[in-house]
Amino acid sequence: MSQHVHVRLNHGLAVTEQGELAELSRCHCGATWTSTYRVEDGEPEL
Ligand SMILES: [Zn+2]
Repeated sequence: MSQHVHVRLNHGLAVTEQGELAELSRCHCGATWTSTYRVEDGEPEL
């Protein structure tokens, strides 16, 4: 089997009850995973 590098396709965004940002991703091979980010208090300056 050759090494397969997952392609992260944005599958959606959600906010957990803990206030974390959850990024849902999936690959065309069927793999899915969730990346969570802790949202700091306060908006970042842009
Ligand atoms: Zn994959």
